[in-house]
Amino acid sequence: MPTDPLPEPADAAERRSAAPVVCYPPESLPAPPMALYAALRAGMTPVERLEIPARDARAFRVPAGHVLRISCIEGPQVGDLNLWNAHDLSERFYSGKTRALHGTHVGTGDRLWSSFPHLRPMATVIADSLGWYGFDADGAGVHDVIGTRCDPYTNARLGGAPFHRCCHSNLIRALVAETGLAPAAAEPLVHDVLNVFMCTGFTRDTHRYFTKASPVRPGDHLDLFAEIDLLCALSACPWGDCTGNSTDQARCHPLGAEIFAPAAAVLDGGALGGWTPPTPAPYDRSHGL
Ligand SMILES: [Zn+2]
Repeated sequence: MPTDPLPEPADAAERRSAAPVVCYPPESLPAPPMALYAALRAGMTPVERLEIPARDARAFRVPAGHVLRISCIEGPQVGDLNLWNAHDLSERFYSGKTRALHGTHVGTGDRLWSSFPHLRPMATVIADSLGWYGFDADGAGVHDVIGTRCDPYTNARLGGAPFHRCCHSNLIRALVAETGLAPAAAEPLVHDVLNVFMCTGFTRDTHRYFTKASPVRPGDHLDLFAEIDLLCALSACPWGDCTGNSTDQARCHPLGAEIFAPAAAVLDGGALGGWTPPTPAPYDRSHGL
């Protein structure tokens, strides 16, 4: 943030000393049923496995009650994830509200919330092999909901060459392939992502967004419980593990996307017996009119 040359007021220190107030205290949200998710994970079985090619994306569907596991399979690699309600693509992942509710980075027990007027959990993080990372000495953490996605427009604005293999365009191509939508109809549906495995933070002095080498290694994974029927698109970012200054030199790897079904015993009167997909936020949309 540029500094303005005007002098500080006499009470500047007093104004700065106001105590921070957490906007959405974690205890104000309904607690996720972690025991249910643990029982689910214990008995789930794989039903589908995809490989997301390096520098490209794939779209796929995850039914409600199933688990999506995103895995590092060959080498450090970050992924850009979009989520939609499989039956209504206007309901999609809302990165900004997820950030406001849970913080700049998500981990086990955090929800991925959908856009207005729905605002419900689309998915819940139920396991994270990088949960040990926490926040490092630079203030960086893993799996951020800060960044947006690499895209051809910012690249062009910064004077770069056409950038078709960016996450924004990768996600569009994947959505077009899965849905048959025209590219012009698909593009507005692509939205700010969950940056899976990406290690990011804000610089201490100017609070600028930074990235550093992802700590992810083959075998690491992030497990998401699908709270509703999901259409997902995942891009294996052309920045690889985000260590370099150019995508040409970035070492890129594929990502794994595996879908697990809960055991029948869990579905039929077991741990998931009383579970139903969350309903939209209970607001009548009258907006004072
Ligand atoms: Zn990217």
